[in-house]
Order: sequence, then structure tokens, then C-alpha cells
Amino acid sequence: MPSKKRDMKHNIWFACPDCSSQRPAPFLPPCPNCGFSLDHLNGRQLSDWQRQKWKKHQELLQGSNISLHGGKWNASFTHNGNAALEDLVRFTISYGDTQVLSSPRGNNQNPVYLAYIPEIIGSGLAIATPGLVPCSGLCIVSPSSIQYGHTYPILDDWMQDHFSGLGSSCRLCHTPTAFGEVFCMQCYSGYANGDWQKLLMN
Ligand SMILES: [Zn+2]
Ligand SMILES: [Zn+2]
Repeated sequence: MPSKKRDMKHNIWFACPDCSSQRPAPFLPPCPNCGFSLDHLNGRQLSDWQRQKWKKHQELLQGSNISLHGGKWNASFTHNGNAALEDLVRFTISYGDTQVLSSPRGNNQNPVYLAYIPEIIGSGLAIATPGLVPCSGLCIVSPSSIQYGHTYPILDDWMQDHFSGLGSSCRLCHTPTAFGEVFCMQCYSGYANGDWQKLLMN
């Protein structure tokens, strides 16, 4: 017999990043309508371009220090984040806030999915802040692009810089939240028992 929890979660719908068909959350790949899967977003199947990006966000795991690579920010997955990557991506596709992000040169508007998870998944460096800063947010750029879709952890500073002034709301109780916070703390601790991965169980 389906539980009440299951029913609540299945009232949340999301649009497939590729074919835009509306599906009940959580996303369990592949999309039954278009076959969209996550192999290019969780590091399993990468284009050369993605391989470069991937390397940058794996610096901690490789034991070297995070570097800014000439930018203002960079963040890398922790072991914890890396181990949970597939679930992090599913979570962000299922519940994340969507926006567009200008490419560094401003000549492209890329769709992005963003979500915070109440757990440290990465560690980052910002030009304005000394030392490493823990991060719990995830960004997926151009999820439907097999060539250019990629995934990385994000710093609060970066979110502020790119999406200040935007808000969000809890997917379950609709309480207003900060941008990217797709469940309020009350629903995390109550409904999900403080375990975000529970929100991914069908
Ligand atoms: Zn689809
Ligand atoms: Zn809530």
C-alpha cells in the first residue's frame, strides 16, 4: 500500500530537461518519453570539453589544491559529494530551480538547474575570501547537451553574485525560501527525516 509520504512526493512534478515532458518527481533515468539519461552529467561518459571541466572539479580528490584557473571562483567535489553524485544530479533535475546563465563571454544563454542539499558536497575557493569554503549547492549547466552539459558544486558567494534577488519556495509546503533551497528546513527534518536521499526513493 503506498504510504502518505510517497503520495506527497509524487505531487511534485518536473519537466524533462530534454523533451520538456512533465514527469512526477523524482527523476529515475532514462526519461520514458525521450530516453534522456545522466551519463554525461555524472562523469561516466564525457566529451573532451567535459573532461576538462571534470578535472577542474575533481582537484580535491586528486590530492592537489583547488586553484582558481584564472576565474573568481572554483569548487571541487569532496569524497562525499563525489560518492553521491548520481543522486545529487537526480535531486537537482527533479526539484532544482531553473534559470539561465550567461557564458563567460556573454554570447550564450545556458539553461541551468540549481539546488542546495543540507550536506557538504564540495569545497571551494573564492577570490574575495581566504581559504577553502565548504559548499552544499549543485549547479547543472545545459543538462540536455551531451557535449556541453556539466555538473559542479557551487559556493554561496557565487550564487549571490549570479542570482541575487531571486527567491524560491519549498516544493512540499510552499514556504518561501532562498533561491536554490528547494525544501525548507522543516520539511527536510520532518518529511525527509533529515536525509535528502529519502526524497529520491520512488
Ligand atoms: Zn524526456
Ligand atoms: Zn517545506
